[in-house]
Parts: sequence; C-alpha cells; structure tokens
Amino acid sequence: MDQTEYLIVGAGVSGLSFANCLPPGSDWQCVEQLDEPGGYCRTIHQDGFVWDFSGHFFHFRHPEVEAFLRARMPADEVFRVDKQSSILFKGARVDFPFQKNIHQLPKDDFIECLHDLYFREGDADAAESFEAMLYAKLGRGITEKFLKPYNEKLYACDLASLDKDAMGRFFPHADVADIIRNMRNPDNSSYNAHFTYPKGGAIEYIKALLHDLDPARIHYEERLVGVDVAAKIATTTRRQIRFEHLVSSAPFPKMLNLCAVEHDASLYSWNKVLVYNLGFDRKGQDVDHWIYIPERDKVFYRVGFYDNIFATPRMSCYVEIGLAADAPVDVEGTLPVVLADLKKAGIVTDHELVSWHSVVLDPAYVHVGGPGQADFRARHAALHEQGVHCVGRYGAWKYCSIEDNILEARDLAHALTGHPSGLLTAADEVERAGAEA
Ligand SMILES: Cc1cc2nc3c(=O)[nH]c(=O)nc-3n(C[C@H](O)[C@H](O)[C@H](O)COP(=O)(O)OP(=O)(O)OC[C@H]3O[C@@H](n4cnc5c(N)ncnc54)[C@H](O)[C@@H]3O)c2cc1C
Repeated sequence: MDQTEYLIVGAGVSGLSFANCLPPGSDWQCVEQLDEPGGYCRTIHQDGFVWDFSGHFFHFRHPEVEAFLRARMPADEVFRVDKQSSILFKGARVDFPFQKNIHQLPKDDFIECLHDLYFREGDADAAESFEAMLYAKLGRGITEKFLKPYNEKLYACDLASLDKDAMGRFFPHADVADIIRNMRNPDNSSYNAHFTYPKGGAIEYIKALLHDLDPARIHYEERLVGVDVAAKIATTTRRQIRFEHLVSSAPFPKMLNLCAVEHDASLYSWNKVLVYNLGFDRKGQDVDHWIYIPERDKVFYRVGFYDNIFATPRMSCYVEIGLAADAPVDVEGTLPVVLADLKKAGIVTDHELVSWHSVVLDPAYVHVGGPGQADFRARHAALHEQGVHCVGRYGAWKYCSIEDNILEARDLAHALTGHPSGLLTAADEVERAGAEA
C-alpha cells in the first residue's frame, strides 16, 4: 500500500496552497479527479477570448499573499483595475452599492427608500436571518427594491433560511450616516474597490502555485472514493493510500459521505451557478466591469465584461444565473433566453455572437445558516481531530475568496507542521502588527 504523511485531495487553490506551505522535503501527494489543476480557478482561451469559469477577480488584502504569487509569475502579467460596477434599475444605472446610492433613484423610489430607512424596525444585530437583517438594517424600500430580489436570484433560496452573517465581510454594510453622507460626498469604496486580474486569466495564479511544486506528486484523473478515518486509509479510483493527515477541498457534504459519517444530508444546502461566457463581434456601450441585475424579468443576476478589463475591441462577457441545487439545467435552451434578456437590458443591440462557452458551478454559493451550521462545525471539528482536515470554499463550507483559501491553507500547514511557511503565518502577522503599533 502507498503511504504519505499529507494526502491532499484537490489541485485547486486550497490544495496547491497547502502543498506550497509545507516545509521543504515534506512527504505529500495530491490526487485530483480532473485531468488538469485549478478547480474553479480555471480559464478558457477560445477564439481570441479569455474567460474564467465565472468572473474571477482578485482583491488581495494581504500584500504578502499577492507578492508570493507575483514572484512566481512573469513580470507585467497582471492588470490592476479600479472597479467600476453598477446596478440596472428600471432601465437606468445606479452606482453600487445600492443602499449608499438611493439618491440616484427616481424621486418616488428615493423617497420610499429614505422613508423606510428612517422608520425601519427591529435590531439588525439580533436578526434571526439574512432577510430579517436586511429589513432591520436598511428598511423595506432598499430591501425590496434591490437586496432581496438580487440575493434571491443569486442564492436561489428563501433568504429567511440564511444566517444574518451569511455573506460575512462580502456584504457592503452602510449605516444611515454613511448613506446620507454619500449623497453629497460619494464614497463607494468596498472590499473590492480595486482588483487585479492576470492577462492570461485566473489560471495564471494557479500556475504560480504550481511553480515550486514537484509535478510528480500531483496525480490527475485520480478521484478519492472512500476514507477509512479510523485506519487512516484513503481509497482512490487507482489505489489505497495510508496517510497521517488528509487535507481535502472536496465539498464537505461529499466528504461526509466519503468518510461514511452518518448525518442528515438535508441540513446542507447550496445553489449552483450556470455561467455563460459570450464573445461578440464588436464592443458594447458599457464601461462597467460588471453590472448587478435585480430585475426578475431577466434570467441572470450579474453580467461582467472582460473586454473592459483587457481594453479589447470585442465585447466579451460572462453571465451568471443562480439555480437551486436540484434545478434542471438546459444549457442550449437557456442561451436564447440569455441573449434576449441581454437585449432587454440594453447590453446587446445588434451584436453578433461569435463564440460562447458554458459551465455549471455546483456547488457555487453555500447556504450559510440554520441548523446546518452547527452540524457542520461539530463534524468538521471531529474530522479534524481524526486527521481529516476539510479546507477551502467548499471543504470548509463558507463564502470566501481565493486569498482566504490561501491563508487558511497556510495556517493549517503551520498548525500541523509547526513550521512557518514562505508566507507569513497568522501568528507572525499579529507579532508584526504589534511591532508596528
Ligand atoms: C460564481 C463564483 C465567482 C467567484 N468569484 C471569485 C472572485 O472574483 N474572486 C475570488 O477570489 N474568488 C472567487 N470565487 C471563489 C473561488 O472560486 C474559490 O474560493 C476557489 O476557487 C476555491 O478553491 P478550492 O481549491 O477551495 O476549491 P475548488 O476550486 O472547488 O477545488 C477543489 C478541487 O478538488 C477536486 N476534487 C473534488 N472532489 C474530489 C475527489 N473526490 N477526488 C479528487 N479530487 C476532487 C476538484 O476537481 C477541484 O479541482 C468565486 C466563486 C464562484 C462560485
């Protein structure tokens, strides 16, 4: 039987980051079910267009993470972009975030939002759900004109079933003072006010993560099919591997099945996202990098424009459609609907579609909330104690970015090996912050 100290499941951002953060000379192997690395961070080059699996733009809050990646990429590889995004509302555009820009709405809508904001009821901090938090924090007008329809289209679920903090730091919070102040002094800064994007697409960051790794340790087209947690033996489609630690970025509910952990599967819920990448014969009129679409008469919740990042002469966009996990998907049949809705939205006029590609991300957004969260925490901790460490956006069942994935993998590697990685550890950062203070 093969054996390794660290068996990594998945060659996406999380798995590859963990391998990078192990001390030199460590004994590790990685199995990846697909024939290529990257997970959701992959890129398609087709007919002169560069498309990700969905718009993947990068907001690094930790300079050392970005520096680590950039040091492993060719120079001048990355665009740095000041984000420009808007919301389609009644045929016009409103700056994002909606709640800070209600003064841009038609007068009646503005008055309704302002009135409801002032007379809102309830305690947002004590709200029992994401939906209740929206009403309590921002009032009925803002909630029902944008936040509720938009997030229902995205999450494809009842927002009352989500935790009030389901979006974590990704929710653009604003209090009454912020909203009023923004009417005179616009400040729409958010977690992603700037972003970076590699010229070759998101896969370039994966190539950076592969740069220092021994390719012979990464085994493609090898899927984990079972884990004997007590005996620490993994079964793959090719062999059995004895491990000391198993680090998995596979979706957590799947890992529970693979580890034969009895659980109530109905506690785990998520959406899937049907993505269309569309290449047209010429440029459109939009200058935004992406547009939020709350209106229910359009099938998609967001449209983004690669050509406005690359400054290329043909419209190149991604379109995202949120679906319930069990909803049927008709890729060919939905394409004409998407094209018609793009015309309805004024994004496409008489443009000719010259190239397209589609992918379903399943899972895409985890439904954080309800009793599933407590179940997740308990089972995640129990597996961790037994040497099965579930990481990443789907392993750790959360809403996060690739930077978060890298930091989480780094901290796990540090915790398991006691060895600081090429990236600073969380403890180092605390120490550094203390020294700087
Ligand atoms: C619509 C959408 C937009 C996003 N936009 C952004 C963005 O703009 N910026 C950003 O920073 N992040 C973005 N993200 C998040 C980002 O995609 C994820 O955080 C990141 O890709 C997760 O990486 P991961 O390695 O944890 O998981 P994954 O990318 O899912 O990788 C897991 C890997 O494990 C493999 N695997 C699974 N099961 C098995 C098995 N049984 N055996 C072997 N291999 C297995 C899979 O094939 C896959 O390669 C977005 C996500 C979505 C859904």
